[in-house]
Amino acid sequence: MRRVGLRRVALLNRRGFVALLAAGLWTGVTRVGATPAVVRYQDRQYIRLSDWASWRGLRLSRSPGSREIVASGPNLRIAFLIDGTRVEYNGTGLWFSYPVLAVDGQVIAWAQDVRGVLDTLVQPPRLAPGKRIRTICLDAGHGGKEPGQKSGNRLEKQYTLALAQELRGRLVDAGFSVVMTRRSDAYVDLAERPAIAIRNSADLFVSLHYNASPDGGSDASGVEVYAMTPEGAKSTNVSADVGSLRAWAGNENDRENVLFAYHMQRSLLQRLPGTMDRGVRRARFLVLRLAEMPAILIEGGFMSNAGDARWIYSETGRGRMAQAIVDGIQAYKRQVERGSGSGAIQGNTSSTSSTSRSAPGSSKN
Ligand SMILES: [Zn+2]
Repeated sequence: MRRVGLRRVALLNRRGFVALLAAGLWTGVTRVGATPAVVRYQDRQYIRLSDWASWRGLRLSRSPGSREIVASGPNLRIAFLIDGTRVEYNGTGLWFSYPVLAVDGQVIAWAQDVRGVLDTLVQPPRLAPGKRIRTICLDAGHGGKEPGQKSGNRLEKQYTLALAQELRGRLVDAGFSVVMTRRSDAYVDLAERPAIAIRNSADLFVSLHYNASPDGGSDASGVEVYAMTPEGAKSTNVSADVGSLRAWAGNENDRENVLFAYHMQRSLLQRLPGTMDRGVRRARFLVLRLAEMPAILIEGGFMSNAGDARWIYSETGRGRMAQAIVDGIQAYKRQVERGSGSGAIQGNTSSTSSTSRSAPGSSKN
């Protein structure tokens, strides 16, 4: 593909891009209401972070000689790294599909990362009036003939089920209805798991898993939460991309998925002190592809790591992990339900989608 620098784009724009559009050579710089302009670079659409920050009423700063760029405002701090895909959103890690770049003196980010991730967190989606989060589908990973990860003689399938059972009790106590994809050491087909959630009209789908170091080492550690990769985007975990970047049922809820994953990751980090933040990641795991409701997959730590094992093997630790997940569900619920008094918690600027073209301030997510 032909490489077009930003400066070149700007020059072309001044000379009149209509002719180029007509010639089908370039589709850059479009303005919709007050939203930031799109620039094209190396055959992808980007947004200048300076444009986005000023639209959102944030200050963008960069220390001389540093790769770090920070967008900040009241109760909000977003840190980006030039040439990096990891972003810290109020201290919680997120992974973009493509690196943030510095091109011709401008810092740019892939437009879909900006819209799908940043805009979603700054200005979260809301449920239709009167709609509530009531039924949670818990999916204990693996089971039966499929043990999942192994660490010594401990099998992932045992601990995902133990966590699901602990979590179920706590969710019921908190007033939720709970659907389980399995209640025993049974094999359940991957496609059947989201199907169970759909048949039972679950409002959220939560798949529970644990990691283990593949080489038997004990260094790798930390929690991560996966949301479905958006159409056309690169996954953080590319092994589940199965050769197709097309849209799946799970993409109907792209914004809700990433918002839910963010609240869950944040809650896990808050409730499990000292745990490594592996961030909100993206993957086209089958259960996420087929879920028709907001869905996440939690990797609740490494079975092979002594620090993480505190929350995996013992009943007390599992209770803390379960409570962290309940809190993550509650945080998401408060944010998306209208009229539940949540607006003040997450910022008084969250608004309905009909006003999404106006420039809201920041919210403290
Ligand atoms: Zn697993």
